[in-house]
Amino acid sequence: MRRQKKSKFDPYLNEITEYAAAGMTVLGIAERIQKYFEDYVEESAVYAFMRSRGIQSRVTQGGTNLNYKAPRCTDCDNCITVINTTGKDVLLCLAAKRIVNRTCTTSPMWCQRRGDSGEVQKNGRTT
Ligand code: SF4
Repeated sequence: MRRQKKSKFDPYLNEITEYAAAGMTVLGIAERIQKYFEDYVEESAVYAFMRSRGIQSRVTQGGTNLNYKAPRCTDCDNCITVINTTGKDVLLCLAAKRIVNRTCTTSPMWCQRRGDSGEVQKNGRTT
C-alpha cells in the first residue's frame, strides 16, 4: 500500500470524520477546525485531506435527491435551544441527547427521523 503523505490535519482526523458523518459541509468542517491553526484553513486543503483519507462529506445526501425531504431540527418537537459554555445559543436534540451542529441547515445525518424518504414518523408528526 502507498504511504500517505503526512498532513497537518491528521491529529484531527477523528474530529473531521465525525463532522463529515454529521452532515457538515467541507467549508463547515474547515471553519470548525480553524481554531487549531494560526494560518488560514483552506476549504480545498480540507477537501483534499478528506479525499486522501477516504472521508466523504455526506452533505449531498438529501441535497441532490429532490424527492428527499430532510427533517428540520428547527421544525421538530425534539429540538430545544440551550446555551453552551461560551454563552451561545445551540440546538439540542432531546431524542438523541446530542447537540446539533450549527452548520446544519436541516438535520444531522444521525437524526432518528431521517429515513429513506425523510418521511419517517416521530411523535405522530411527519416531516
Ligand atoms: S436531529 Fe432529528 S429528531 Fe433531533 S431535533 Fe433534529 S430533526 Fe428532530
